[in-house]
Amino acid sequence: MQDDAASTSQTPSVYGSSYSEEEKRILALCEQFKQGITVSVIENDMPHLTKQMVVDALNKLLAKNKLQLLSKQDGSLLYKLKDPVLLHKLKGANKEEQAVYEIIERSGSFGIWARKIRAESNLHLNVVDRVLKRLESKKLIKSINSVQAPKKKFYLVSSIEPDHSLTGGAFYSDNQFDSNFVEVLMDTCYKYLATKLKSAEAEHGKDGPLTVVNAAKVTSKEMQEYIERVKLAKIALSVQDVEKLLDTLELDGVVRSCSGGYGGKAGGGGVKLWRAVPDCTPTPHLLYAPCGVCPMAHRCCDMGSITPQSCRYLEEWLQ
Ligand code: SF4
Repeated sequence: MQDDAASTSQTPSVYGSSYSEEEKRILALCEQFKQGITVSVIENDMPHLTKQMVVDALNKLLAKNKLQLLSKQDGSLLYKLKDPVLLHKLKGANKEEQAVYEIIERSGSFGIWARKIRAESNLHLNVVDRVLKRLESKKLIKSINSVQAPKKKFYLVSSIEPDHSLTGGAFYSDNQFDSNFVEVLMDTCYKYLATKLKSAEAEHGKDGPLTVVNAAKVTSKEMQEYIERVKLAKIALSVQDVEKLLDTLELDGVVRSCSGGYGGKAGGGGVKLWRAVPDCTPTPHLLYAPCGVCPMAHRCCDMGSITPQSCRYLEEWLQ
């Protein structure tokens, strides 16, 4: 972040005198970071402001209808510039539409369903339904069905991407878990790790098995970048999505994970690393011979009632 002087000098003057320098700078930051900013971004950019001054400036911008407040999955708050096109469309809206729109806007990427809008707005459900239809026809809001409650319709501001808890994330398509797609992704992950293991064996085989294992490790981020490069998914997979795939492969016993960095690998301690489990050497067929677990082995010899010649278990195994 810039120092104070630089920050102020970069503040655009498109906002009139009704905006303080702090408010102008916050708006400039929101324009720079379109996905929204947290209070700490503002505090880092303008360290001379106290927490109270930052909160006051943000509240003024919210009151001026310049910013929208969103809550992230971890509970932290995000301030985002309001879309001027939406604001223009909203200008022609009546009071009921504005009230419902504001409630939907506050719900952020989690969305809100009609009954909750009714409870918060004190409007009759029929009125809420009518207003929702009008807002949808004006393309101010959109509705989606949640994967967790497919019969429930959730409403969001049209410019906001729904949270994974609503869509199910990258592995869902049309509200259904896309098992074929997940299998392709898991196969791709495994093949990538197996190829890494093979090249590690070729390059470091002479240095011992530990060196091979270390050289075959891949970070979750590296795997996510690979999936992105091969363009398998229509929507970008997050590192957490990729870790879910790798966790499943680990439960299948074909991949192993460990934490922390290792020699020369970028991403040091705390990073999750993955490697393919080498194929086991095929078990020699002799080990399956029944004699190894036979309770009569101590009495089995060339003569008598228990002999290999007369043993049907040995006969079956030989066949
Ligand atoms: S030959 Fe048959 S009886 Fe003898 S030890 Fe093997 S399994 Fe047991």
